[in-house]
Amino acid sequence: MKKCIWCSRNDNDVNFNTLAHTFPQSLGGKNICLNVCDSCNFEFGKKQSFQPSVDLAVKEIFNLSRFLISDSKNISSYKRFSSEYFKVNLQRRQINIKMKYKLQSKFQENFARSFKRGIYKIFLEERERICGDSHSDEFNFIREFSRYNLNDVPLYYLRPRYPILLIDQEQLDNPKLHFTESDLELHRKYRLYEFYYGGYSYLLHTNAFMQDLHINKYNAEVVMKNKNSMILSTLVQIHRMEDLDFRYNLFNDGL
Ligand SMILES: [Zn+2]
Repeated sequence: MKKCIWCSRNDNDVNFNTLAHTFPQSLGGKNICLNVCDSCNFEFGKKQSFQPSVDLAVKEIFNLSRFLISDSKNISSYKRFSSEYFKVNLQRRQINIKMKYKLQSKFQENFARSFKRGIYKIFLEERERICGDSHSDEFNFIREFSRYNLNDVPLYYLRPRYPILLIDQEQLDNPKLHFTESDLELHRKYRLYEFYYGGYSYLLHTNAFMQDLHINKYNAEVVMKNKNSMILSTLVQIHRMEDLDFRYNLFNDGL
């Protein structure tokens, strides 16, 4: 019997006919979460007014990351690059938000919210696919946020001090999450999950309680500890789209 990880309904009540890609298919995502019903799957792709759908927000940001770090780009690939929200100015080496969106109030915040919901959505669906335990009540806070757009759950990334050091080509070709012993350790110690995509490490909460305490502890014990090393990063919480600062080392500094 299938039971949806988002709405908890099973195949007596709802259909499971569409394929729920954990990472968007357009990013190369090949993995499917079987326990996602059609209506929940549809909801993530549904465009809302003044707010991109959850799927689209992830797609736009990750597509941009992927484009910027690809080493095979040339003038024609810049010309081919298409995006609903961004425009690339090759002469000025700048990426800007298209004017019609820039002028919308709260656009940046709304976009960031959809993106955050999308990252948590990927986490829960991949977790179900790999570990099969996403129905646990522990993850109710993710269901409320990602599926029902309630409350707010913080999302962070590590902004590297130096231009990209590691390009994980496999992750770009077929993005997936891992739940290895070190991931479980991070969950036990800090109630966090970390994954790498397109030049950034993203950090998610895996538990609803004492999130401030856990992230501060992680920052002090792990991030700050690397202060003098090459892998120095800064922990950034994502509130607005531009907090992602995808231009920071990938583009404006020149690659
Ligand atoms: Zn459902």
